[in-house]
Amino acid sequence: MGPFFKKSIYRNLLFSMIGFGTVTGIIFPFFSEIMLGTEKAVQPAFFLMCICAGLIVGGFNYLLFSIVVSKQLKKLADGMQEVIKKSRDQTLPVSGCNTFSINLESNDSIGRLATYFNEMSLAVCNRIHTETHIKNLSSRIARTIELNEMSMILLEDIMSLTQSSVGALYGLRDEKIVRLAVLGIDETEKVPLTIDESYGIVNLALHKNQTIEISTAESGFEWMNLSTPFGTLRPERIRIIPFSIESRVVAIAILLSPKVQIPDTANQILEALRLNISAYINNAILHDKIKMLAAVDDLTQLLNRRFGIKRLNEEFSRSLRHGIPLSVIMLDIDHFKQINDNFGHDAGDSILRFVAKNLEKGLRASDVVCRYGGEEFLIIAPGAGLVDAGKIAERIRINIEKSSVKFQDKEIKVTISSGISTWPVSKSSNGAELISDADKALYFAKEHGRNQVVLFDGTELKRFV
Ligand code: GH3
Ligand code: MG
Ligand code: MG
Repeated sequence: MGPFFKKSIYRNLLFSMIGFGTVTGIIFPFFSEIMLGTEKAVQPAFFLMCICAGLIVGGFNYLLFSIVVSKQLKKLADGMQEVIKKSRDQTLPVSGCNTFSINLESNDSIGRLATYFNEMSLAVCNRIHTETHIKNLSSRIARTIELNEMSMILLEDIMSLTQSSVGALYGLRDEKIVRLAVLGIDETEKVPLTIDESYGIVNLALHKNQTIEISTAESGFEWMNLSTPFGTLRPERIRIIPFSIESRVVAIAILLSPKVQIPDTANQILEALRLNISAYINNAILHDKIKMLAAVDDLTQLLNRRFGIKRLNEEFSRSLRHGIPLSVIMLDIDHFKQINDNFGHDAGDSILRFVAKNLEKGLRASDVVCRYGGEEFLIIAPGAGLVDAGKIAERIRINIEKSSVKFQDKEIKVTISSGISTWPVSKSSNGAELISDADKALYFAKEHGRNQVVLFDGTELKRFV
């Protein structure tokens, strides 16, 4: 069918107007005859005049319609076309969703059409906004499986959406809600590592499984009634966003913001995030758990040899870079074989757990303890010089010597020997050489009576006293 034969409301209107004008032109002379009582009206010339007048009025009517109505309709059609194009491109207007609407005010059905169209295009724009945001965030967090990194990216994003100044992200791990990331607060260490239902807001988020907003300025609000992990901070607004998988909360974001009402689009994105991001967090928590299981020795819960060496190499590079000393202490239980032989293997295991606990006591957060072998342990002490490390080892030695382990109804006593080497005192050029020097010092301690600490000072092996 050619374009001319296609249905056209305009052409129909044109024909109708002309048809109506012609019919009016034909009827009008008879009407004039009745009204005026003169036969002159039904004359061919008057007929012709009336028909012409009818045609002209019909034509003008069509022209006026085309100019007035069609202009508005064209504006509407062009606007629609633009929105369709934008939504196909998935490109967002920089100036927000306002450019997605058309400016057409008219108190009739064309005006209503424009209003509905604007509402519809705003919804489309917001939808694109949300999808684009989720897509970008997903691709950023999908690049990493590391829980810390992912938590930071996610928290940063939620904080910018909610215009928050302080935020913390907690995740569910082994039935405990543990801290994953904190931002916007100097005293990060004051934000608790784990939280539980005794915090009212956590309880609320867990049970309602929906975003909760609390405005502290609300009348009758008692700040003291609200317990948050942020202690005495008093923001205007607190937002708690739970992330869940099949109604089971896997993470909670706690956000503090100055007085702000966030835009609807941000709320929409947050709701979409709640549903889309939970699986990522859950996977990262699982991955982290598996990683920990692989890195930790089952009996003592210390880092195992493989990961201990990995940490040592990392610390060695850091020390080289910053020129700060690094000490390693190799510790070995004396005559451990005899304990196994005399009291049994289970007693031996109890001793290993006891020694492991003692090693961790009084160490700095930056120190690393690992189970190096059967009854051998390794302490990595970044920043500690040879004498500092000697003091650490001596304190441990005395502690263990003074204590005893109760196994069944027996009191078992053990002692340990230690060997220490320190970079840059020992001229080792990597972690393995540093361990080898400490091993020599340990061997020396064993040969010279056990229950003692021996240092390698770069040239000689000396007992630490
Ligand atoms: P030294 O003072 O020279 O270090 O003597 P030692 O007996 O401690 O050293 P040796 O190397 O002869 O024996 C270490 C023993 O540690 C042998 C091994 O059966 C025991 N052992 C290693 N791992 C474990 C463990 O996980 N549990 C128990 N109970 N014993 C272990
Ligand atoms: Mg031993
Ligand atoms: Mg040994």
